[in-house]
Amino acid sequence: MNQAVPKNNRKPRPKAVVDKSLCVACGCCVKVCPLSAIQIMKGVTARVDSTKCVGCGKCVRECPASVIMLKEAAS
Ligand code: SF4
Ligand code: SF4
Repeated sequence: MNQAVPKNNRKPRPKAVVDKSLCVACGCCVKVCPLSAIQIMKGVTARVDSTKCVGCGKCVRECPASVIMLKEAAS
């Protein structure tokens, strides 16, 4: 019914974050993301949609420039 206040004690899942200043826009992360949570913005940098990302880490392992990290989502 009222879902305004979530009541669980689980840690939030981390989210992927791209260092945009170092991204080379190769698109490798886009291809491996199972949730289609990453887009290449204006052909210059990857951007993660944190509402879709589940923190699986596939993009982190795939990035040839090592510019994706998993970070705890801000509450
Ligand atoms: S951590 Fe997983 S779900 Fe999140 S953007 Fe990377 S590949 Fe997609
Ligand atoms: S794999 Fe890495 S370098 Fe390539 S687009 Fe994604 S974040 Fe950028």
